[in-house]
Amino acid sequence: MYCDILVIGAGVLGLSSACHLKRRNPGKRVLVIDMFGGPGQGNTAKSAGIFLNLYASVANYLLADSTIDWLFHLQNGLGYDLGLAKYGYLYLLSGARHDALRGPIERMRRNGVEVRTFERGELERMMPDLVTEFGDEEAELMGLEPVEHGVLGVKCGCVDTDALARSLESELLKLGGEVAYNTTASGLILRPERELGVAGEPFVWQGVHVAGAETDRGEIRAVTTVVAAGVWSERLLGAVGIDPMMRPKKRVMFVFKDPRLQRLWGARGFSEYDALPFTHMPGIRVYLKADLAEGSIWLGCADDFGRRYGLEDDPQPESSLYSNNIYHALVRYFPCFEGVRPVNMWAGQRSINRYDTVPVVAPSPGMIYVGSATGSGITKCDALGRTVAAVYAGEEEVELYGGRWLEAASIGIEKRSVEKETFKV
Ligand SMILES: Cc1cc2nc3c(=O)[nH]c(=O)nc-3n(C[C@H](O)[C@H](O)[C@H](O)COP(=O)(O)OP(=O)(O)OC[C@H]3O[C@@H](n4cnc5c(N)ncnc54)[C@H](O)[C@@H]3O)c2cc1C
Repeated sequence: MYCDILVIGAGVLGLSSACHLKRRNPGKRVLVIDMFGGPGQGNTAKSAGIFLNLYASVANYLLADSTIDWLFHLQNGLGYDLGLAKYGYLYLLSGARHDALRGPIERMRRNGVEVRTFERGELERMMPDLVTEFGDEEAELMGLEPVEHGVLGVKCGCVDTDALARSLESELLKLGGEVAYNTTASGLILRPERELGVAGEPFVWQGVHVAGAETDRGEIRAVTTVVAAGVWSERLLGAVGIDPMMRPKKRVMFVFKDPRLQRLWGARGFSEYDALPFTHMPGIRVYLKADLAEGSIWLGCADDFGRRYGLEDDPQPESSLYSNNIYHALVRYFPCFEGVRPVNMWAGQRSINRYDTVPVVAPSPGMIYVGSATGSGITKCDALGRTVAAVYAGEEEVELYGGRWLEAASIGIEKRSVEKETFKV
């Protein structure tokens, strides 16, 4: 089979890239393949589905903020129901952590991020289930930090990631793009720039380029191959000597639905939704999300140090991570979780760029890699898709949704020039 542009991966990044490539190159044949049976069934489906613009690094902020504007355009302008709700992203912080973040918060404000801050008393009124100080020996032994401040990103909230992936697929098909599911790429095809027709090509002394992929349905030749295979990208790229600047790491999510959590779910005053904002707990590597559709609370464990790197095709959640671990600290902050057990759980993998946490869009001969989104691929998907299309067109600057610009090479590998993210809790 032959196409002009082959996109490997029908997650949000592959589909967004394919949409922008096809929109800008209507005459080219754009084909997306995925090893799963439908759009967004990799880590897109496993994500917490949060969009946020709380970044101090200009590149991270532009990628996220412009994508959020575009998500609302997709829903309100193009008519896709993405279940968008701007209900905020709240960091609960001790005084010491808040002091350490003053610089990055100021930086975010200067960039244009709308941030609201709360003091302990306000948080206690708005979240009556929250315990903000402990003062007992056990809490001290556990190292639990008091909650003295709240920092809320206003332009943040949740999106239905399944609806997002389906809407991108639908836009692509409307533009005349093609998708082929249940199709696995086993490797990239490397060919010499000038074929000599001699056995053993390509030789080390020949210029080589990626010329498509071997798949379980046969060879797919392409002039340009976009590798958007998420955490699996390292399998395809590592085999041809390309470093995707990321390593996969598991993250586990738990779901709770219990009347004892009802008041917490409906925390008032943070947004027009009168629902718990996406909430990061101080120091215990746990976040909570109110799921508006099902009335449940999701809990994610952001354990990083101590959690091993490594690609897993089917990562499994460890139920003991909640019951023998997170639970002890969680019930001290939120006693309403006492005796409450998860009704569901799953695990996915994030592609972590530990160095600067900014995603990567990097060309190599015959291909473009997009990924290394470090847990923020949903929130940056449109901007990254536009960057892929700009790199394909050989443009130096990417016009993001809403008319802001980003230097394409700045998020590449060879000429990478992004600041490290400093808003880290
Ligand atoms: C638990 C968890 C919570 C998260 N929460 C958030 C969040 O709240 N907000 C946010 O912005 N981000 C979040 N993320 C990160 C987000 O899910 C990812 O950044 C995003 O989904 C990456 O999209 P992708 O298209 O690169 O990857 P994927 O969605 O994984 O898509 C890659 C696709 O490539 C396909 N593929 C791989 N290899 C091959 C092959 N050889 N042949 C054919 N097909 C192949 C896979 O089947 C897959 O469908 C979270 C991630 C996890 C794990």
